[in-house]
Amino acid sequence: MVDLARYIRDIPDYPKPGILFRDITPMLADPEALKTAAHAMAEPFMDQQIDIVAAAEARGFIFAAPLAMQLGAGFVPIRKPGKLPFDLHSFAYELEYGSDELQVHIDGVKPGQRVLIVDDLLATGGTMEACCRLLEKCDAKIVGCSFLIHLANLGGEQRLNPYTCHSVLTYD
Ligand code: 5GP
Repeated sequence: MVDLARYIRDIPDYPKPGILFRDITPMLADPEALKTAAHAMAEPFMDQQIDIVAAAEARGFIFAAPLAMQLGAGFVPIRKPGKLPFDLHSFAYELEYGSDELQVHIDGVKPGQRVLIVDDLLATGGTMEACCRLLEKCDAKIVGCSFLIHLANLGGEQRLNPYTCHSVLTYD
């Protein structure tokens, strides 16, 4: 069994002083580690009849397509404004400094479809909460959220309550 934690590189003071960034690129570059990570992110949802795996750009996309293929599901992209060509649902949300917005095609998820949302990392939960709220505008049934990494001291899991959260690696 691959020890995935060995492939996560810690970068102090990135992208700004005081932040310890968890760099997943060494893990992505290793074939066995990448396969192990994708399987571990999908595993609890294998029997959950997932119709759609959704993810926000950019790092969420990396995991969404392999998870969709494992789960027999389709993939729906969630993007920043100006990137999607068809009619849209939008959700604006607050960041530490300023605000941001995510968008999805109005027909990306059909009402009642069972959706798993994925991202590389759960920190404060702001990004994933925005994805959940956005997909609720499509009347999606959000089955859960799957992450490679959970930074457990930042309150993300509490913020995402009552959504089901699964993560493969947890850091205090
Ligand atoms: P949150 O919205 O939960 O505070 O932050 C999570 C989002 O920020 C994810 O989309 C993730 O890609 C990105 N992110 C924040 N910190 C890190 C980090 O240390 N490493 C990586 N790979 N992504 C991060």
